[in-house]
Amino acid sequence: MPAVYEVKHLTKVYREGAVVANDDVSLAIERGEIFGLLGENGAGKTTLVKQMMNLIAPTRGCILLEGDDISRTPHLVPLRVGYLAQRPYAIQDLTVGQAIFLTGHLRGLSRRDARQATEALIAEWRLGALRDRPIRKLSGGQLRLVGLATALVGGREILILDEPTNELDPANRFHVWEALRRRNREAGVTILLVTHNLLEAERVIQRVAIMRGGRMIAIGRPGELKARLGETVQIELTLVPGQNAGARLSALGLGDVRSAGAERWSLTTRKDDLGATITRLLDEVGSEAIEDLRLQTHSLEDVYLAFDHDGRHLAPSPLSTSSPLSASERGPGGEVRTPSPLSASDQLRNGGRGGEVRPGGEVR
Ligand code: ATP
Repeated sequence: MPAVYEVKHLTKVYREGAVVANDDVSLAIERGEIFGLLGENGAGKTTLVKQMMNLIAPTRGCILLEGDDISRTPHLVPLRVGYLAQRPYAIQDLTVGQAIFLTGHLRGLSRRDARQATEALIAEWRLGALRDRPIRKLSGGQLRLVGLATALVGGREILILDEPTNELDPANRFHVWEALRRRNREAGVTILLVTHNLLEAERVIQRVAIMRGGRMIAIGRPGELKARLGETVQIELTLVPGQNAGARLSALGLGDVRSAGAERWSLTTRKDDLGATITRLLDEVGSEAIEDLRLQTHSLEDVYLAFDHDGRHLAPSPLSTSSPLSASERGPGGEVRTPSPLSASDQLRNGGRGGEVRPGGEVR
C-alpha cells in the first residue's frame, strides 16, 4: 500500500532554548490506516505533526505528502489534510456554527454545501446548544468537540488529530473513537492521531509509533510490539472463600502464582500452555471453588511502559517473562533505531553549547 505521508530524517531544533524537539525522525503513514503517535510529555509529537501540517519548518529532513515535498507545495496540505491542533482556534470570536461553516467554505465547499456540512456535524457532535456561542466561551471539552467538527468538515481523506479525546468525558471519548473508526472503515480515511489515552486507542489504532526525547523508538502493529514483551498470558482468579482453594492452587506448582489480596490470585503462564493450565485449575482446584476467572494479555500500555529512551525494555511488564531486548537485538519490523552518534542532540551536547542533554531533548 503506498504511503500517504513520508517523513524522512526530520530534525527540528527550536533555536530558543536550543531544544531538539525532533531528532532524525523517519516515518511512513500508509493509506487507509489509523496510526497512533504515543510518547511522554515533551517527546516531540506535536512538533512532528505541526511540521507535517507545514505549520513550522523542519531544521533538517523533508516530508512528502502523496509524493509531493510539502515545503515546495505548501498549498496542498490544507487541501488534503484535516487537522485538529492541540490548542485549536486562533479566531476566538467566531461562534461554533461560524467556525465550522467558514472552515468548510475555505476548504472549497460552496456556501450551500458548507451550511449542510455544518448542520450534519453539529448534529453528529451534539453541538446544537452551542451553535451561537463564541469559541472563547467554550469549556475545554466543548472546544475539543468543535475542533473535531472543523477538522472533519469538507471530508478530507487524511486526518491529523493532536489529542482528539483530551478533556472529554467518557461518553464523548467513546463517541470520538467510534466516529473515527467509522470514517476509516466506510470512507477509507487515513488517520494519524496523537494520544495519551492508550487503553481506549488500542481498540482503534492499527499501527503505532512511540517517541521519547524527540526520537522514534518503536514502530509497529500493537500485536507485533506486544509479542516482544513475551508470549505469556495472565490468569486472574477469584476463589470462593472458605474452601481452602488457595492452598490447593499453590500446591499445583504451576509456576508464577501470586496472591493478589483476599481470595484473589494471579498466575502467569505461557500462551502455549494456557489450555492445559486452565484444565488443571478446573480439575484440581475445582470449578466450584473458582468464582471468577479472567485472562489478560499485554496491553498497549504495557508496550509503552516497556520501552526506554533508546528503545530497550525499561522495566519488565508484569506479564513478561522474557529478558530485556536491546535495540540491536530487534529485527525488521521493530524499527527501533540505535541512536546515531551524530544525532542532533549529540551535536548540541558535543558543541559545548549547553552541557547535559535531558530526556526531552532540552539542553541545560
Ligand atoms: P505533550 O505530550 O506534552 O503535548 P509533545 O510530545 O507534543 O508533548 P512538543 O510539544 O512537540 O511535545 O515539545 C517537544 C519539546 O519542544 C518540549 O521540550 C517543548 O518544551 C519544546 N518546544 C515546543 N515548542 C517550542 C517552541 N516554540 N520553542 C521552544 N521549545 C519548544
